[in-house]
Amino acid sequence: MAILKRSIYKTPAELRLMVRPGLVTAASLAAVRAAIRPGITTLELDRIAQETIVSLGGRSNFQLVEGYRHTICASVNDEVVHGIPNDRPLEPGDILSIDDGAEVEGWNGDSAFTVVLADASRPAEVAARQRLSDVTEASLWHGIAALAKARHLNEVGTAIEEYIDAQGEFGILTDYIGHGIGRSMHEAPPVFNYRVRAKGPDVKPGLVVAIEPMVTLGTTETVVGDDDWTVSTADGSMASHWEHSIAVHAGGIWVLTAEDGGASGLLPLGITPVPIP
Ligand code: MG
Ligand code: MG
Repeated sequence: MAILKRSIYKTPAELRLMVRPGLVTAASLAAVRAAIRPGITTLELDRIAQETIVSLGGRSNFQLVEGYRHTICASVNDEVVHGIPNDRPLEPGDILSIDDGAEVEGWNGDSAFTVVLADASRPAEVAARQRLSDVTEASLWHGIAALAKARHLNEVGTAIEEYIDAQGEFGILTDYIGHGIGRSMHEAPPVFNYRVRAKGPDVKPGLVVAIEPMVTLGTTETVVGDDDWTVSTADGSMASHWEHSIAVHAGGIWVLTAEDGGASGLLPLGITPVPIP
């Protein structure tokens, strides 16, 4: 008996259903970002994300992950991804990555950003952390721009790695990667944030992927904490994580988790995002 396998390519109608969860995800992250300041805890940020998602008619898809009870992942300093919100107040100079996602009517969004809290007493450290975040974010936009022109999915990782390599000494995590997204937050195909030999699937209308470079100021080796979730750098170096969910459609690409479809990041790279018709 043949096993019915869900195609990695969504129909135009399915792509339209992914617009709303993308925007709800974007709104929740914007609300969290606006609240970040020294003294606030990541548990308080978690509540803000949760309230925003629910108020917009969605639900947290992180809470649908087996064993996870929070709306965001909050990864501070040497934590790269999957940090669990806690009651430690944020401090000046912290580099903080927030990752979350919303499900609306059975379809998903997934996105992450990094911020560095100001600290006038440690200008050099803060500048290095800000540059790490800036390089990681720009690498994401280069990966998305590559997707817009790619024939095969591995061109995304090549673009990310080439960009980061040209910026200096940074580590690109290989233990964790991006993914397809749709009815599930995590689905095929895998999306590598670095160069791989295998070409991967064709980039063509209907492909929806979450691209999410995780970059460090040191090693690419990671350790998982005693909580079985938090991923930290093995050498204690600082880390950054940026992510967007992007749809490929017949007219072009559209960044589902950006309010402007990705225009601010893509226009400087010569790509004009096109709304999903
Ligand atoms: Mg994510
Ligand atoms: Mg993801």
